[in-house]
Amino acid sequence: MNGDAGAALNTGALGTTALSDAGVLDGDALDNTTEIVSRSDAGVVKPLLGDPLSNRERTTLEDRFARADSPWDEFIDALLATAHARGFSLNLRSLTVDVILTDPEPDATMSRFGSADDLRALYLALHVADVLRELDLRIEREWEELGPLQEPFRAQAAEPDVRMEPLPYFRRIRTKMHQQGTPDPMRYWREIETDVKIFGVRVRNGVHRELVRRLKAATEKSPSDLTSLNKDASLNEDTTVVGFQPRTIKDKEQLSNHAWGLAIDVDAPWNAYITQRGVMDVIKRHTTDHVDLSKDPIDDRLGARQDREAVLERRYETLKKASYELKVWLAEVEPMEGKLFDAVQRAADELQLAKGTKDQARITQAQLTYEQARKDYEADKGVADYTYLRTHLSGEDLMNWTREGFLNLPLDVIKMIKFKEGVSWGGEYERIKDFMHFELAPSQVPDASR
Ligand SMILES: [Zn+2]
Repeated sequence: MNGDAGAALNTGALGTTALSDAGVLDGDALDNTTEIVSRSDAGVVKPLLGDPLSNRERTTLEDRFARADSPWDEFIDALLATAHARGFSLNLRSLTVDVILTDPEPDATMSRFGSADDLRALYLALHVADVLRELDLRIEREWEELGPLQEPFRAQAAEPDVRMEPLPYFRRIRTKMHQQGTPDPMRYWREIETDVKIFGVRVRNGVHRELVRRLKAATEKSPSDLTSLNKDASLNEDTTVVGFQPRTIKDKEQLSNHAWGLAIDVDAPWNAYITQRGVMDVIKRHTTDHVDLSKDPIDDRLGARQDREAVLERRYETLKKASYELKVWLAEVEPMEGKLFDAVQRAADELQLAKGTKDQARITQAQLTYEQARKDYEADKGVADYTYLRTHLSGEDLMNWTREGFLNLPLDVIKMIKFKEGVSWGGEYERIKDFMHFELAPSQVPDASR
């Protein structure tokens, strides 16, 4: 303990502020606490205090706070656990000691501590609070260090389903990274290259160095240039590649590999992300092979026997054909749906007019016409499927699918990235399909501390 009492004085003061932030101590407690701790120099309190945190205790606490969704809520439990591990019980009421600590008579204060454990608990609480405070500071330093990478965090934090301040959002993602096995996410974020081109297209938000290395290797081996991908598209939009995105997978708690900078989305408008069972059912009904996107369109047993590249070729062919057939069907059903829908609208208008005339014969006729128009509209299965898509997809997706289908990536690009560089393609996921998406797992990055 020797010289530690002085050090405890300083960290203790910090800790007390943190404690009052947490509502554990009154803010005025600071000076009196200093008094109590400083008395340890005189040998009065010192024997009661116990040791400051050991490295092991500190590491355990740091880890606990860094993976907690709300660290201050974790504080009391962490304190109890630390005290318990030291073999003394902790009466929490002794920590709400604002009366004692604001006592003008330090000697009286001392005498009013219930037990030695109370004082040791307070001393411990100050150190535990310091761990949390240091974590706060470290997170702020990391946020500053991000530089241009702050922008993707700001963008995600401003999303309508998030709406948070950027720094707390950064903290939330950092916590999730920890929970998902990456206690030091900066090890990945520092490796993100922000000014990089893949297949001739600039990667928005940058991408992890390891993925760049592999994709560049694929580019050298493949003559494909993505910049020409949309030459034939009826909308001549530029091809886009998006990399780092600090966010969870859509509608899930789990982080996307985009959060590690280890995924890219190529040409998102023309390469769909399909997760809804009902949408998959519509696609199944309107493709000749009845392709079910909730499964692998290629029999897995074939995969075991055949060359994996040949399986990918067949899978791609099946998907591409389905994409084309869906596009053709959408182009047909869209005007049909429009026609039947207009008929219902016209009949409804006429019925309204008829009611105004009080001409009973005309009203009856209009009613019949209206009911028939509705029946015709509802009876058409194709139209019902189209209506389903219209209500379950974004307007942009439906328009894009109608013009170009849901898959436009060339097979040679997919093959090159997948087979030569070990990157996974979201078009081969089992239950959903993410045709725009290529990724590495964090464990595929060499030398990264996990
Ligand atoms: Zn993606």
